[in-house]
Amino acid sequence: MKTSTFENFPWWMVAACNSVALAIYAIGLYLMAGLGAVWAVFYAAYCVWMEWRLLSGSCRSCSYFGKRCGFGKGVVCSWFFSKGADRPLCAKQISWRNVIPDFMVSLIPLGAGITLLIRSYSWLVLVLVGALVLLGSVGSGVVRGRLACR
Ligand code: SF4
Repeated sequence: MKTSTFENFPWWMVAACNSVALAIYAIGLYLMAGLGAVWAVFYAAYCVWMEWRLLSGSCRSCSYFGKRCGFGKGVVCSWFFSKGADRPLCAKQISWRNVIPDFMVSLIPLGAGITLLIRSYSWLVLVLVGALVLLGSVGSGVVRGRLACR
């Protein structure tokens, strides 16, 4: 799929892209909390680490550094980090090593949701697990394939 490019992405795109990621984090946190507070804290720390990893690595060297990209992170990155060596949008080769930590953001709470369903069935957990699957697959696919960077 071809990724959209703008000098500064429209606000609606930034909101749409981040709402998918935030919904995954929120559902993930809820499901992990069902296993216990320690698991919720572990998941929250993992999500923070993922964001830090992206900002301190890819975003610093991105041509959108200091600008409003699809995720708005080009601007956010410039608040915390100095600029790295330039690299055009989408020039980075994406390997499994890059994407597995991303998948884990959905897969870890998915495992937690399935565990909760086995332990004690709940319609709410089932709906959240379904939403997580949709957001982590179709939602992330559209956002990263059509709207923002991969
Ligand atoms: S386009 Fe992607 S890599 Fe570049 S600043 Fe935005 S989120 Fe970071």
